[in-house]
Amino acid sequence: MSRIEIGYRERLRCLLGELGIAQPEREAEALLSGARRRAAEEGVPVEEALARAYEGLRARVRRLLAVESPTGAPRLLCDESLGGLARWLRAAGCDTLSVRGVKGDALLRAALAEARSLLTTDGHLLERRLVHEGRVRVVWVPSRMPVLRQLTLVMGDLALTPLTPRCMSCGAELAPVEKQEVRERIPPKTALWKDDYFLCRGCGKLLWQGTHWSRIEKGLAEASRGLEGPRANNE
Ligand SMILES: [Zn+2]
Repeated sequence: MSRIEIGYRERLRCLLGELGIAQPEREAEALLSGARRRAAEEGVPVEEALARAYEGLRARVRRLLAVESPTGAPRLLCDESLGGLARWLRAAGCDTLSVRGVKGDALLRAALAEARSLLTTDGHLLERRLVHEGRVRVVWVPSRMPVLRQLTLVMGDLALTPLTPRCMSCGAELAPVEKQEVRERIPPKTALWKDDYFLCRGCGKLLWQGTHWSRIEKGLAEASRGLEGPRANNE
């Protein structure tokens, strides 16, 4: 069984456990086989078939248990293989830290110390005691998935809807600033057509919503739309 399959088996098993299914392991195996079969029949990558099976079950569990979306965005910590995803999560308004050079149990300790949910591609971390005891929430993310697909998956897991964007570089909040106050930092061509500027409270970067931002908004909209798509096919 591949690492991706092991990761999904664990995700499925947890969801089935929430439903109070008697033998979640066996049911998870059955869903995995179903996804493998569907991948072969429909010619879609097995990772995508697994993601759809998982998202379909997640939607059903949410409905059955009437799970409500949390208010406000959760605090997140991304391992170093998820730097791209961290930037997108910040654009979606999540307080997201990204750590480099920290691996394994040290990641769990960092998440615990910071009171953050850990997003990681390391499926082994799901088996740790801190996770089973519910002291650290770990969201396993398949590493081979395109970043916007990862974003859809994680936004669905955390029941997120995009909020006020944060600094994509450092994750801190952005504060509006008067154009006059930062005039010398604005590229002359930008100053001609933009009047709204923001300063990052963390790294001090000056930002404005230029053409780059339209691409980001498009990506966020695509990820939010993806929250509806795969589920509909599976129900
Ligand atoms: Zn910043």
